[in-house]
Amino acid sequence: MFNRVDNQNLFNFHGRTKSLHENSDVLFDLIIIGGGITGAGICLDASSRGIKTLLIEKNDFASGTSSKSTKLIHGGLRYLKSLEFNLVRTVGQERAIAFKNAPHLIIPQKLILPIYKKGSFKKWQLRIALTVYDFLARVQKKEKKKILSSKATLEKEPSLKSTNLLGSGMYSEYRTDDSRLTLELIKTSLRFGALAFNYVEATDISKQNNTFVVTAKNCIDNRFTTLRCKQLVNATGPWTDDLREINFRQSKKKICLSKGVHIVLKHKDLPLKNPVYFDALERRMCFAIPRNNCTYVGTTDTIYTQSIKENPRATKNDVQYIIDSVNNHFNVPTISENNIISSWTGLRPLIYQKNKKTKELSRKDELIVDTNNMISIAGGKLTGFRIMAKKVTDLVCKNLRSNVKCKTHSIQLISSKNINESNLKKVKNDYINELLKYGLLWGEAENLFHTYGSNLGDIIELKKLKKFKTFIEAEALYCLKKESTITFVDFFERRTSRIHYSPEKNFDQAKLILPIFSKYLKLSKHKEKHLLEELFLHQQNLTHFK
Ligand code: FAD
Repeated sequence: MFNRVDNQNLFNFHGRTKSLHENSDVLFDLIIIGGGITGAGICLDASSRGIKTLLIEKNDFASGTSSKSTKLIHGGLRYLKSLEFNLVRTVGQERAIAFKNAPHLIIPQKLILPIYKKGSFKKWQLRIALTVYDFLARVQKKEKKKILSSKATLEKEPSLKSTNLLGSGMYSEYRTDDSRLTLELIKTSLRFGALAFNYVEATDISKQNNTFVVTAKNCIDNRFTTLRCKQLVNATGPWTDDLREINFRQSKKKICLSKGVHIVLKHKDLPLKNPVYFDALERRMCFAIPRNNCTYVGTTDTIYTQSIKENPRATKNDVQYIIDSVNNHFNVPTISENNIISSWTGLRPLIYQKNKKTKELSRKDELIVDTNNMISIAGGKLTGFRIMAKKVTDLVCKNLRSNVKCKTHSIQLISSKNINESNLKKVKNDYINELLKYGLLWGEAENLFHTYGSNLGDIIELKKLKKFKTFIEAEALYCLKKESTITFVDFFERRTSRIHYSPEKNFDQAKLILPIFSKYLKLSKHKEKHLLEELFLHQQNLTHFK
C-alpha cells in the first residue's frame, strides 16, 4: 500500500518530537490509540500488511495493564473450569507461536499445582484436566504434565506445607516480560514503516467526510497536533469507554474493570524452586513465581469503580489477602507487609455482563464498532494479543479494501534476530560469556539476555565505544536512543523491571545514569531533580499501602 521505510531512528525523544509535528498533514490508513499489548499487536499486524500505521500512547508504552499482568503466556488451564475449550485451544496455539517468534522473551516454566485435602482440585480431576489441557494446548511431548506424589512434590518444592498434601500436577506455562513484549512488538513494527509515539494523548476525535480527525496532545511540551486517518482503532484497555464517550458511543456494550494486585518478596523469604499455582483464600487461585532473586505473588480480582485518571494502587486489604494466602500455604517464616519490596496493580478491561461477579466474567476479547465506525477492542489476554490483532486488522483491511493476509505468525521479533528454538541455548551462552568479561554475575547476564535478546550486541558495542565503566550506563544510552525512554520510571520499571526486583539499588543506579539522561534529553538542573523525585515517589507508592 505504501513505500516501507524503517522508522527505528525516530524512536527516541528527538525523533518523536520532530516527526510528530511533521505528520500533522499526512493521511494515515490507520491510527491506533493505546500502546499496550493490544495496540502494539495491531501496529505490527497492520504495518506488516503494508498499511500506513501510526500508534499513539498517552503515557509510556505498556504503562497501563500491559506491565501489570502475572507475566504468563498461558495455556489457559483455568478456563477448563468454565468449560471454555476453544479459548484453551487458541491460547495454547498462540503460546507456541509467541515462543517461536521471541524465544528469548517467552521462557518455558514447569508449574506445580499442589493438591490438598478439601482443595480446589481432586487428584483425578487434575489428571483429567491436565490431560485435556496438554491435548488442547498441543503441548510438546517433553513438556507434558506429570502427576506427583506428595513426597515427590515436597522434594520438588520443599516450601509447600505438607499437612493434608495429596500430591501435585506439574505442567507447562511460559513466563514473559509483558512490558518488553509490548515494546518489542512496537519496535518490530517500526521496521515495517509504522510510527509510534509515547506521551501523546488523543484528546478529541471527530469525523470530517470519511476521515477521522484526532486531536493529539504531546504531553512532553503540551503542544497539540491534528492527526488524520481513514480507520481508527481504540485499543485503550481500561480507558476504552472514555474514548468511546468522546466519540458518541452508540453500541450498548461496556467495559467493567477488575483490579489485580501482585506483591514482590525477596526470594529468601519465599524460596521457591518452581512457579506454584496454589489455592488462595476464598477458593481463588494464585500464582507465586520466582524471578531475579525475588518471588512475586498474585493476583487479586476485585471490581474497580474508582476514577482511572490516577494509577490504581494496592490497598492494605489487597496485600493482606495475598500475604494471608502465602502464610496459609507455604512453610516459611510468617510473611508480613514489611517483607514486600515492590508491587504492581493492574486493571483488567473486561466486557460487562449483567449479574456476574468479576471473577465469573469471561476473559474473551470483543470488537465493538460504534456508529461512526471507530473500532474498539477490549477484553482478552496478553497471551491472545496476536489473534486479537489479526481480528482487528482483518476488519481494517476489509474497510480499506485491501486483501493482504496476516503474516505475524512468522514474524520474528526484532530482539530475536537470528535466535530460534534450536540455537537459543548456544546464543544465550555466547552472550552470557561475553557479558561475564565485563564483571557481571551469571544471573545478571542471563537476565540481560532475556531482557534485550539479540539487541544486547548493540549495547555491548555502545559500552565499548563510549568507554562506559558500568554496563547499566550503556543500557541507559541504548534505551534513550532506541527505545523512546524519557523518564527514569520508563527505564527502571518498563525497560528493565529493576524497580521491582532490585529496588534497593535504584537510587545509586539512577544517580550513576543521571548525566547520560541529562545530556541526551538536554535537561535543566530543575528537570534532573524532577526525574529523580518522580522515581522516588513512584517507588514509594509501590511499597506503601492505605
Ligand atoms: P493497556 O495495557 O491498559 O493499554 C491501553 C493503553 O491505552 C494504556 O497504556 C493507556 O495509557 C493508553 N491510553 C488510554 N487512553 C488514551 C488516550 N486517550 N490517548 C492515548 N493513549 C491512551 N494476560 C495473560 O495473558 N497472562 C497473564 O498472566 C495475565 N495476568 C494478568 C494479571 C492481572 C492482574 C491483570 C490486570 C491482567 C492480566 N492479564 C494477563 C490480562 C492482560 O494483562 C491484559 O488483557 C492486557 O494487558 C490488556 O492490554 P491492553 O493493551 O488492552 O490495555
